[in-house]
Amino acid sequence: MPAPDFDAIIIGAGMSGLYQLIRLRQLGLKARVFETGSGVGGTWYWNRYPGARFDSESYSYGFSFDKELLQEWSWSEHFAPQPETERYLNFVADKYDLRRDIQFHSRVTAAAWDEASLTWTVTLEGGAQHSARFLITAIGALSAPTLPNYPGMESFQGRAFHTAHWPKEPISFEGKRVAVIGTGATGVQTIQEVAKTAGHLTVFQRTPNWCAPLHNRKITPEEQAEIKASYDEIFRRCDETFSCFLHTPDPRATFEVSQAEREAFWEKLYNSPGFGIWVGNFRDMLTDRAANAEMSAFVANKIRQRVKDPKVAEMLIPKNHGFGTRRVPLETRYYEVYNQPNVELVDTRATPITEVTPTGLKTTEREFAFDIIIYATGFDALTGAFDRIDFRGTEGRTLKEAWAGGARSFVGMMVPGFPNMFMLLGPHTALGNIPRSIEYNVDWVSRLLGHMQAAAKQRAEAGEEGTTAWMAHVMDCAVGLLSMEVDSWMTGVNRNVAGKQQRVIARYTGSAPAYREWCEGIAKEGYREVALA
Ligand code: NAP
Repeated sequence: MPAPDFDAIIIGAGMSGLYQLIRLRQLGLKARVFETGSGVGGTWYWNRYPGARFDSESYSYGFSFDKELLQEWSWSEHFAPQPETERYLNFVADKYDLRRDIQFHSRVTAAAWDEASLTWTVTLEGGAQHSARFLITAIGALSAPTLPNYPGMESFQGRAFHTAHWPKEPISFEGKRVAVIGTGATGVQTIQEVAKTAGHLTVFQRTPNWCAPLHNRKITPEEQAEIKASYDEIFRRCDETFSCFLHTPDPRATFEVSQAEREAFWEKLYNSPGFGIWVGNFRDMLTDRAANAEMSAFVANKIRQRVKDPKVAEMLIPKNHGFGTRRVPLETRYYEVYNQPNVELVDTRATPITEVTPTGLKTTEREFAFDIIIYATGFDALTGAFDRIDFRGTEGRTLKEAWAGGARSFVGMMVPGFPNMFMLLGPHTALGNIPRSIEYNVDWVSRLLGHMQAAAKQRAEAGEEGTTAWMAHVMDCAVGLLSMEVDSWMTGVNRNVAGKQQRVIARYTGSAPAYREWCEGIAKEGYREVALA
């Protein structure tokens, strides 16, 4: 039997693919990364829409595995914008000489397991095939963009972009009539940036989200020195918090304190940078209906104070879900945008979009003319990137078939029936501050591969029992969360995707420390729940 081309194939050269490549090299394994794009960065390669940045503190977001890298790289802002993060990931690729093992312009369309040779054969668009003993998916949780299904979309004669397929050349909005469809974290960032220069901006909002101020600013030289001296402490803190952000819930319950204390605390959170207001709030804010309603009322008043036209303010205040039960977009003068004379807000629940025309689009009420339409309409989250590849495991069974009744995974990283396949951001892994999850998962997979090397094992497959236990834990974690009562990508809903209309327990909602404890337990017991042969 001919030797496989590689020890391991990694799909995707985003943060997880890059770090996995580094760790595989340390194990002495010959790896190849296949990447659709022409550069590294994944999310930070594709999402180059105006205003794109992360909501994690920059210094909690970068890789932590190399102290030298931490000292060499200087983030310029507390919350870095996309171009800087893309530069950072290129810096990482250069520093560790990663490009020689990355093949760009190479979309993986299929991957099939062969039991006789214990190898995966990966097929690229165009038909080329490559084999490897291990297959590692580094394809992201939010990487399969989705568009609405309006009639006439192809007929539009202006320029139209999905935010996740943004062109590399600069796009000018100066004097242009621009539409933005969608008001999730992406839409909010796009809107606040485009509104600065657009001749006229029309925002099409189906569901308002609860947004809160980001409070971004430049990092001063003194802060830079302090950050570089504190990395151990920063990452230790990330390791301890619920979702690996620098923020963690306040131990008090909402109604344990007086109204005045409560409001002072919320005021402080509203005026502080980052996700404190979402994940550093009172401990019952996301589980207690009355507590959540109080918090929602507080933020609703902020919106009323910031938006001059009371009718527009009411349109921007969510009515069908409470604060934090969907992902909270962090913003910079987002609400003030609606005070500008060149910005209009359209409620597409009241007046749905009926079609796109060559010159713009129509709602049930009006016809609009646009030069540019921006679709900030989100992703086929969590499983979409997997659905786009024809994965075939033992006996030719497809991953789609295996997941027909809902995605099922072993700690989000393995699937029974798919031996030697590891998912770095698979369904039901811990998410939160994503690079922290990525580093842990890459390390866990790498340790398992090291264990296999040491024990001369060739094949690893997640057991049914361990998978059932993990999925039961995932289901248990979701009990009592108010977010489970709301449609969003976090509950598996995307109205533009067939089969994703019903809420499901689509992700792991337990804490990152609990996730790691579970995974460490598996490792400590010699990977008892993984069949090794
Ligand atoms: P999203 O949260 O799923 O938002 C998509 C938006 O498009 C929603 O407002 C949705 O309305 C709207 N939409 C979709 N189809 C539509 C249609 N046919 N007609 C009208 N409106 C439609 O997607 P996203 O904003 O791209 O964000 C996804 C996730 O990526 C975020 O939650 C976050 O985790 C991550 N992200 C992070 C950052 C950051 O770190 N700052 C920035 C961007 C994204 P409905 O709500 O009514 O469905």
